[in-house]
Amino acid sequence: MVVEDEAPLAALVGTYLERDGFEVAITGDGSEAVALARQVDPDVVVLDLGLPGLDGVEVCRQLRTFSDAYVVMLTARTEEVDTLIGLSVGADDYLTKPFSPRELIARIQAMLRRPRTTVAPADPAPPAPPRSFGGLVLDIDGREVTVDGVPIALTRTEFDVLAALARDPGVVLTRAQLIETVWGPNWMGDEHLVDVHVGHLRRKLGDDAARGRYVRTVRGVGYRMGTGR
Ligand code: CA
Repeated sequence: MVVEDEAPLAALVGTYLERDGFEVAITGDGSEAVALARQVDPDVVVLDLGLPGLDGVEVCRQLRTFSDAYVVMLTARTEEVDTLIGLSVGADDYLTKPFSPRELIARIQAMLRRPRTTVAPADPAPPAPPRSFGGLVLDIDGREVTVDGVPIALTRTEFDVLAALARDPGVVLTRAQLIETVWGPNWMGDEHLVDVHVGHLRRKLGDDAARGRYVRTVRGVGYRMGTGR
């Protein structure tokens, strides 16, 4: 689904996506976008920030209440990305205009290539038991997270970042390693995006950046799982 009120840009992005084999639905209005998403149940949403009707932030918030589509947010200025980080809107990736449609397609393909643990393998391994880190319980196979018994709604990307850290809790992962694990080796974006998603993750888990109980910053290196204390 492409949500962009600049009709020529929406059509251009749509053409590139169709050429790549996607079925494309386009709208230029924020309120229409939410209704359209309920109809077409998109896998990926390319979402402009500045829209008539509802703005991109509000569209993303409403979308997240019923969809776990990958969301790529388009912004007019680089500084807007930092504002969006602060708002914790739940987008999976950000692109600043002007961008190359090829890069957009490459990023979407990289997202869709990510391993989906929800897809059952041909010869399924027995499900791993949930792991506990203090009050946080993570069921990687069931893709569920609770903190002190309360279910936490994470985006796919946030969940994948947490799962990557939790798989080997004693090990520090660099931003580059997290990108390789979560976004795939062909991803071309900025390592800053890891910090964006860790920020969202911490906010949802009620974690503290300075003294991470669940997601610890290892200064100058990257992140590792905390013990929950
Ligand atoms: Ca716009």
